[in-house]
Amino acid sequence: MHRIEIWQGDITTLAVDAIVNAATNSLLGGGGVDGAIHAAAGPGLLAECRDLGGCATGDARLTRGHDLPARHVIHTVGPIWQGGTQREPLLLRSCYRRCYALAGEHGLARLAFPAISCGVYGYPHEQAVGIAVAETLLALQQYPTLEKVIFACFSTDMAQIYERTLSRLRQAGLA
Ligand code: ADP
Repeated sequence: MHRIEIWQGDITTLAVDAIVNAATNSLLGGGGVDGAIHAAAGPGLLAECRDLGGCATGDARLTRGHDLPARHVIHTVGPIWQGGTQREPLLLRSCYRRCYALAGEHGLARLAFPAISCGVYGYPHEQAVGIAVAETLLALQQYPTLEKVIFACFSTDMAQIYERTLSRLRQAGLA
């Protein structure tokens, strides 16, 4: 059974243990998936985030899901793409690692990720997906409590990038 699923739709509708939010440093909400998550979770999420006092780029924080069908939200702050010279790959890798570390600590089995940094933060999609999939394969080995990772894609184009990346790795026997 494949523990990685590529799914097209709105991440806020998923009833998993945690959905991941592509948040901003303030954790006080923004546009894109962040705005959609706060809108669906209700004001309780913003209140809980306010108490966290922000989050560094490449780090992550866990909150409850409030009005979402998901039990928790893991907020992570992806890097803004600046041409690749500002440690962007390292920071994006760190986002996934910190999310999986939190999920492992809290025994979360089913997670859903959006394509972190692939919206207004402008990260090249193929490169970002390569990092997302590689870190997910490592995490599935590292954390026995992790059962399922869903890559929630807003567009067909993005879903196809995940499909291509995964099928290349599966053909090579790496996934
Ligand atoms: P970032 O600031 O990290 O670039 P964005 O929210 O702008 O984050 O975009 C991240 C990705 O999430 C993009 O691929 C965007 O299309 C996608 N996205 C936006 N809204 C949703 C949603 N409701 N569910 C799933 N993915 C979404």
